[in-house]
Amino acid sequence: MQLDGLIEKLKMDHLAPQIEGVCEQAAKKDLNYKEFLTLALDTEWRGRHLKGVESRLVQARLPWVKTIDEFDFAFQPSIDRKVVRELSGLAFCERAENVIMLGPPGVGKTHLAVALGVKAVEAGHRVLFLTLESLIMRLSRARSENRLDRQLQQLVYPKVLILDEMGYLPMSREDASLFFRLLSRRYEKASIIITSNKSFTDWGEIFGDQVMATAILDRLLHHSTVISIKGDSYRLREKKKAGMLEKQRTRKEEANEEDEEKKEPLKT
Ligand code: ADP
Ligand code: MG
Repeated sequence: MQLDGLIEKLKMDHLAPQIEGVCEQAAKKDLNYKEFLTLALDTEWRGRHLKGVESRLVQARLPWVKTIDEFDFAFQPSIDRKVVRELSGLAFCERAENVIMLGPPGVGKTHLAVALGVKAVEAGHRVLFLTLESLIMRLSRARSENRLDRQLQQLVYPKVLILDEMGYLPMSREDASLFFRLLSRRYEKASIIITSNKSFTDWGEIFGDQVMATAILDRLLHHSTVISIKGDSYRLREKKKAGMLEKQRTRKEEANEEDEEKKEPLKT
């Protein structure tokens, strides 16, 4: 069989368009057989890996892509870098453990959750990002359409499920029990990363029921890493910096901006 035919039969779609270049490079660098074979297979492998990462990133539905490297740890000294470094190694994901990020608005909870999601995607895992609100909407719609079981099953497939903004909206008892069913399904099978602006003592309030909150916390915390961030909002810091650069502003504008800053914590 000819080379083109072999590449096609072996479905080496990434090597196919680059084979001429690979051969030229091999000739120019005077590669031996083994080195040439490695270069050719590596070209195919890289292409496949990149395509996989891209498609998993789309499936993950992240609100934006941010990485650990883009996180300014100096600005948030309450975060133990070692813990974040350990999490980036993804052992938590292999062991189906959970991660909980707590802290006020703007301190980087979603940033870190997304960054760990990106790491997991790069390592070949399926990831899904949902706000708590959209999760509950999905589950209640599925229940009313008699397909709750199937929906729960679908939510077990992603190796990492990121649930953002727990606690911004209170949940009804039924919502909380749907959430509990999801937790039970994923328990010790796949990881959840949760972000919340409420401390654990306030979770009873979120779920409208202390018993339910205890059961939920019990499942979530059993195998988990908690990162509790105490510090200033990065968003406000950027706003303030921008404010200092403006020279001419009326008092009215300043007053408006202060009002905006007071409102900001509600918008994450
Ligand atoms: P939270 O989810 O805690 O409300 P976000 O993660 O959404 O906060 O952070 C708000 C914005 O500030 C995002 O654009 C995020 O990338 C950025 N940010 C927050 N903390 C940091 C940090 N320490 N270094 C770099 N960017 C940060
Ligand atoms: Mg957030």
